[in-house]
Amino acid sequence: RTVYVNGDYLPEDQARVSIFDRAFLMADGVYEVTSVLGGKLIDFDGHLKRLDRSLGELEIRNPLSADDWLAIHRELVTVNEITDGMIYLQVTRGAPGDRDFAWPDPETCPPTVVLFTQSKPGLAESPAAKVGMKVISIEDLRWGRRDIKTVQLLYPSMGKMMAKKAGCDDAWLVEDGFVTEGTSNNTYIVKGNSIITRELSHDILHGITRAAVLRFAREAQMEVIERPFTIAEAQDADEAFITSASAFVMPVVEIDGAVLGDGKPGKVAARMREIYLDEMRKAAI
Ligand code: PMP
Repeated sequence: RTVYVNGDYLPEDQARVSIFDRAFLMADGVYEVTSVLGGKLIDFDGHLKRLDRSLGELEIRNPLSADDWLAIHRELVTVNEITDGMIYLQVTRGAPGDRDFAWPDPETCPPTVVLFTQSKPGLAESPAAKVGMKVISIEDLRWGRRDIKTVQLLYPSMGKMMAKKAGCDDAWLVEDGFVTEGTSNNTYIVKGNSIITRELSHDILHGITRAAVLRFAREAQMEVIERPFTIAEAQDADEAFITSASAFVMPVVEIDGAVLGDGKPGKVAARMREIYLDEMRKAAI
């Protein structure tokens, strides 16, 4: 596999970053994951805009132009022959000579840029979408700026392992009695003709998929209500689902052991998944 590191395309076993890189020492970096379907990038503009926002919040300079980012993504898709899969990109504050809590001078410490691909044949035909996910709930112990897409993913990773040990697929994070989001996705419940999802704030990642799905839901005459909900309300809902750039729309059929409805993926989730995939394939670049 060919990867990109700071201007070079290299075989993955020749790619190197410094042990002083601030992402390695301090999780001082941000990332994006763009899905590839049929060799094309899904919602690429959305990812670039969020990358800019994450970098801006951390005062890291975006080292590349939108055209450069697009060219690198396309080159990796081509050389690695990705039909369905994903592209991971990471920008860090770089690698100063010493470890220091204070940020280095950006003039002498340029950001580190890394991109790689993962091939996932049949990504959009996931059998999981036909079965639905089981989730557990756990306390949300992450930091207070979840709107910045940092590489600080230890707690989400622990949450995922807690879910696995419980025989489930993911964990929903709960703060002050209300669901914030999943370990790596935004969360929704459905009641009648309404889709309910937590409003945007520093508490959750502003999902690119969330923005698209809510737009399509409104266009399909569904009512969208942006407010927090509890686990008890979710267990009592008609349906539940999650969204993310790599899972698209995925139904949830069980929450903390409580089966939703008949235990099968809901109609609204299935419909939103279909609309999302159709529309986003059409708009892919
Ligand atoms: N919340 C969290 C915590 C995430 O890690 C992700 C995945 N990046 C999402 C939500 C979904 O965001 P997106 O739709 O942009 O992938």
